[in-house]
Amino acid sequence: AKVRIYQLAKELGMTNEELLEILDNMGVEYKSHASTLEDETAAAVKELIGEQRLAEEAKKAEEARKAIPHRAPVVVIMGHVDHGKTSLLDYLRKSRIAEKEAGGITQHVGAFEVKVASSSGTAGTVVFIDTPGHEAFTSIRERGAKVADIAVIVIAADDGVMPQTREAIAHAKAAGAKLIFAANKIDLPQANLDKVYQDLMREGIVPVAYGGDAEVLPISAKTGQGVQDLLETILITAELEDLRADPNAEAVGVVIESRVDKQAGVLASLLVQQGTLRVGDYVVAGEHWGKIRAMTDSEGARRNQTGPSTAVQVLGFSELPSAGTTFEWVPDQVAAKEITEERRLEREASAAAPEVNRPRNIADLLRQMQGSEQKEINLILRTDTQGSLEAIQQILAREQNEEVRINLLLAAVGAPSESDVLLASTANGAIFSFGVAPAGSVKKMAEQKGVPLQSFRIIYELIDEVRKMVRGQREPVY
Ligand code: GDP
Repeated sequence: AKVRIYQLAKELGMTNEELLEILDNMGVEYKSHASTLEDETAAAVKELIGEQRLAEEAKKAEEARKAIPHRAPVVVIMGHVDHGKTSLLDYLRKSRIAEKEAGGITQHVGAFEVKVASSSGTAGTVVFIDTPGHEAFTSIRERGAKVADIAVIVIAADDGVMPQTREAIAHAKAAGAKLIFAANKIDLPQANLDKVYQDLMREGIVPVAYGGDAEVLPISAKTGQGVQDLLETILITAELEDLRADPNAEAVGVVIESRVDKQAGVLASLLVQQGTLRVGDYVVAGEHWGKIRAMTDSEGARRNQTGPSTAVQVLGFSELPSAGTTFEWVPDQVAAKEITEERRLEREASAAAPEVNRPRNIADLLRQMQGSEQKEINLILRTDTQGSLEAIQQILAREQNEEVRINLLLAAVGAPSESDVLLASTANGAIFSFGVAPAGSVKKMAEQKGVPLQSFRIIYELIDEVRKMVRGQREPVY
């Protein structure tokens, strides 16, 4: 049935005048608001209104987002052993204290802030996670929490890219963090910045100096040379990320550390990611809850409240919440107890039931992926030699097709490690090793975490498996 103008106006929730104006703009002729419209005209009007409303909603959502204030970036420092992660953290911590006149006292609360002042207009605060290394970082992430916005990958300029540098890059990428590189120990006579650039190129990372977009900052954690530039680059990177958090929201964040102190009891370091946490608040973290009795910041000062992108040590949990657990504000003790009890029961129920969702081998993993939208196979490749590594990488590149991409999380020489298993587990990926056998402890861990781990000695078997993976992806399951 044809629709009259006033009927359509009512249907669209607008006045007759509004609709008549739209019709005028569309060049539609009519006598009055009682006139009927052609079906196509009515459909066109509806479509137009739908589009306008969507655009308005998007505009409103964008305005709402813009109304939320910026927050400081959270940065983790990673890299190969002895490349200077601890030294850089020490330098940053010290320079921060030196600025404070009262200074001197620091409290380890899991993260600390560095205020960056600069002549070029880039000023702000950067929050550094106070533990170097990617193991801690990945075990936090494994529980599903995103902690770091930016990863600074430290590479000693007298050494270049090393195995753990590659791991750190893989972990940071898998976590969705932005990468910034610090070529450290630039004060040493044998420091070779060009080698760092070339090593990175070999990893598929093109430094700005070579026309790419990877920031590589020469620094010395010993003398402090270049550290200011590094801080400013972190701020610029953060600005592009447009990080925001609402201080008026209910407090949400991540437990970054926890320990028992003989005198004080359970101490937990919390990174607030959104909202404001106050003394007296109730929070739940996994199956544990607490009433915040006291908060201490990284300068050792007592705090009554703390906002987004700040870390505090809190007193008030009765049991240790594990690092990496998300915490959230709850209104009172009743809610806190109810939620944690529910979670405990849920865990017990799922522990009693057979695990159905955990992939056990590649075939299981593929079956799981087929059900999802994932068209990318995340793979960690470990080989005995650089030669076999390159050869297999070429094969993988050849075997993938438009529908299925093989995403190498990490390709490196050496046996698969426990940290590889963590990486694969968080990225829902698999591990292939060629010519190197994983240690028993690594195999066991892979089994526990349900990470497919396969070792090959014959290249054709590996190729065969890869083909199965790629083909398996395309075969529809009914
Ligand atoms: P991490 O294992 O990555 O935490 O490395 P460390 O911070 O412990 O540093 C390893 C060694 O390198 C230590 O002996 C540091 O004193 C030294 N080191 C770190 N940074 C620099 C630097 O910028 N210049 C020089 N000359 N030595 C450094």
